[in-house]
Amino acid sequence: MPRLAVLGQPISHSRSPAMQAAALAELGLAAEWSYEAIEVAPADFEARVRGLAAGGFVGANVTVPHKVAALGLAGEASEAARAIGAANTLSFPGGRIAAENTDATGFLDSLPAPPAGKRALVLGAGGSARAVVWALVTQGADVSIWNRTPERAERLAAELGASVATPDPPGDGQGAASFDLVVNATTVGMGTSRGSAADLKSLPLRADSLNEIHQLVDLAYGTAETELARAARAHGATVIDGIEVLVRQGAASLRIWTGLEPPIDVMRRAATATWESSTAPDT
Ligand code: NDP
Repeated sequence: MPRLAVLGQPISHSRSPAMQAAALAELGLAAEWSYEAIEVAPADFEARVRGLAAGGFVGANVTVPHKVAALGLAGEASEAARAIGAANTLSFPGGRIAAENTDATGFLDSLPAPPAGKRALVLGAGGSARAVVWALVTQGADVSIWNRTPERAERLAAELGASVATPDPPGDGQGAASFDLVVNATTVGMGTSRGSAADLKSLPLRADSLNEIHQLVDLAYGTAETELARAARAHGATVIDGIEVLVRQGAASLRIWTGLEPPIDVMRRAATATWESSTAPDT
């Protein structure tokens, strides 16, 4: 019985168990494979991970706050995980701990077309922004970073080969319109607030400045579509929401563990089944 899990704290509202269970069922693996949510405190994380292989686990997703620690425990790691400095996917070949970061590939897989040559504006300089910036830069996009705390944007840009954006100040946001692709990798919009008009004033972005020529990826997701995604879509922009990115990173993890092609539509339906009924976003 191969076991899979997602490890995090908190974890009870994670959509990954429902999404991955639906995928395993669609692939005809439900009778043998399982996927469970495991709440782990940071102090217990290392011991828990080191015991997973002996407990029958073949792989695990790792979410907040353990992604950096997960990479640190791994004996082997992909180029993406090493460059990003964090892992969201572990597997245990021969009892070893191998780390991958499917947040980066999941983000790229969610885009309608490869981003090579595109002008991209990434809002945020936290963990998910790091994965997005690395993914875009390695694919040949011209990446600018804006962050509420500018020093973090400067550090990230210098480390990963991007520039620091100087778009209009928060509340105006017309400057974002000069980019082809805008990614919201801040926490504005996550959870039940959905990023109200007041919240959006803290971003250098106006949804009504985006139109048919723009792509917006809003990593934030919660109980319903975010206000930013809704408004940008209403103005004609191509919108990729946080659920799509969640589905794609989960699919990339499942591909690593099973070697099979994941059923994306089934996973997307399972991930949105709790739309409006879940209270905390998480992977
Ligand atoms: P981090 O805590 O690592 O980073 C948070 C970022 O948000 C920082 O850049 C921070 O800026 C910025 N920020 C916070 N509050 C504000 C504000 N009021 N105005 C402007 N900027 C703000 O978070 P993560 O990178 O892990 O997550 C970011 C978002 O991405 C979350 O909504 C998360 O749910 C989502 N996410 C979605 C995934 C998916 O699969 N769809 C996967 C991973 C994350 P500062 O440096 O100034 O504090």
